[in-house]
Formats: sequence, C-alpha cells, structure tokens
Amino acid sequence: MEHASFPPLSRVAICGGTHGNEMTGVYIVREMQKKKENAARSFSIIPVLTNPRAVDVCRRYADMDLNRCFTDALLSSPVTNSMPYELRRAQELNTQLGPKGGKEAVDLLVDLHNTTANMGLCLIFYSLDWLTLHILKYIQNKISSVPVRAIQLDIPLSDAYSLEAVGKHGFAIEVGPQPHGVLRADIFNVAKKAVDLTLEFIQEFNAGRRFEGGEVEAYTFVKSIDYPRDSSGEITAAIHPELQDKDFQLLRSGDPLFLSFSGETVKHDGEDLYPFFINECAYYEKKVAFQLALKTTFLLPSVSVEKN
Ligand SMILES: [Zn+2]
Repeated sequence: MEHASFPPLSRVAICGGTHGNEMTGVYIVREMQKKKENAARSFSIIPVLTNPRAVDVCRRYADMDLNRCFTDALLSSPVTNSMPYELRRAQELNTQLGPKGGKEAVDLLVDLHNTTANMGLCLIFYSLDWLTLHILKYIQNKISSVPVRAIQLDIPLSDAYSLEAVGKHGFAIEVGPQPHGVLRADIFNVAKKAVDLTLEFIQEFNAGRRFEGGEVEAYTFVKSIDYPRDSSGEITAAIHPELQDKDFQLLRSGDPLFLSFSGETVKHDGEDLYPFFINECAYYEKKVAFQLALKTTFLLPSVSVEKN
C-alpha cells in the first residue's frame, strides 16, 4: 500500500471559546494555559482562548459568528473602526497562528466545539488529509465510551471559513450533546481525552513511529435542511420525536423529519442520507434544522515523519 510522509509537527495550537458559550473548549484551554509547558515534548503547544469577548458574556459571539470569518476574502478585508469585533479578531488570530496557507502557520490547529445535537465525538475536516485522518483513527482506537466519527466539508481552502483552516493541518473537535452555556463532566472528559490522544499521536509521530494504513469512514456533507416555515418566515414544525437524537442513523425516504404544530408529520423524500447536527441550538438563526451526509470509506496510506 501507499506511504505518505510529512514534516514533523513542531507547533500545535489548541483553541477554545471560538463560540463563547461552548464551555468544554473554554475550560480545556484555560486549564492548559495554567500549566507550564512540558520541556520534554518534541513540539510546542499554544493554547488560545479565541473569542474572549464572547466568552466573557457567555454568548456564541459578540457581533458575528467568528467561525465564519476565516475565508480568504474576509481575512484580507480592510481594517476599519466600524468592523465587527469577530472580523478583527479573525485577522488577529490569522496573524498569531497563520497566515492561512502560509509557511509560518502552526503545523496543527485543533478547535474545540460543543453541539446540542447527539453527535458523540466528531472530528470535522475541510479536505482529506492523511495525517489528520490518522489522528482520527488513533482516537477511534482508544475511545470506546462514545462513537468517534469524521465529517468532511469538502470546501476549497480559500472559501474555508472556520478557524482550523488557518493551520497547515487542522480539524474541529465537536462533542455533544451539551447545552450551550453548560459544562458536563462526561462531555468534558471525552473532549479532553481526544486532545490528550492528539498530543500523544504527535509525540509518537515526531519520534519516528510509522502508522499503518487502513480504511477509515467519513461523513461527507451534502446539504442543510431548513425547518418548514409559513409565508412570514416563522417555523411551523419541530424536529420529529423519531428523528430527535438519531444523528448518523440512516434516513430513508418516508422516514419522519418534522412534526408540525398542528400534528402533521413531514417525511423525508429523496435519497438515503445520514442526518447530523439535528436540532443544533445555534443553527436556528442559520435556518438549519439538520444537515445530511453521505458515508464514504477512504483507504488511508501508512504515514510517518519525513526524514531529513
Ligand atoms: Zn461551535
């Protein structure tokens, strides 16, 4: 089978609070900031609380969603006094951790999120990256308390809008269900374990371990589905009880999607797909009731560090 090699990972950013009310990442980062850097590591860790203004008021954002500000266009928009706080913050983070697509960027950027959806632990990627998919596989082999899955967005780097796109390699860790503004120990422990395993992988990778290839499954984003609405734009139905909490369970034509306030069931009509982010609290404003994905299996090459 194929083999791929990558330069050592020498700078790793662990980010939290990109959404200020997603508490797991906020507290993982704060704990990391209190600890002294372990000099025995082969790499440096940069813990960053990315949206401090939103964290202070425990809201998703102050002016606009920070995690939609990292497209090339927005990162290069002119600085003005009236620009939204998060847009300015995205440019600061791009200077500190990037620049996106540049040689000076951190080698790996991990951004910690929570969802109100019943998604277990997900790693979210923009594109297929053999190294980060090996980190996924490493985490999958060592966490059994919750399902560990990959979501692939398949967006070109220039249009990639999330913070993790700033690193040379990057992914978001999404853990749920947890209400925003709330800390649950079970969710915290799963996310913390995923971060610790990522750091353990990097230590072993940099030391020269060869990670064997194999198959890995990913859910590739297909489309978002909005709630049913009336002519004035108000929603007229809620997620159907039979769909609620069924993230990543195959949705077939005829399966219930929504239960209208007058008691009618709206059914799925189309190809078989996998729903996720079902009833995510923060997506009501984005007009997203849930998202749909295809499941794809990828053949991973073995990977190891580049020898110089
Ligand atoms: Zn988030």
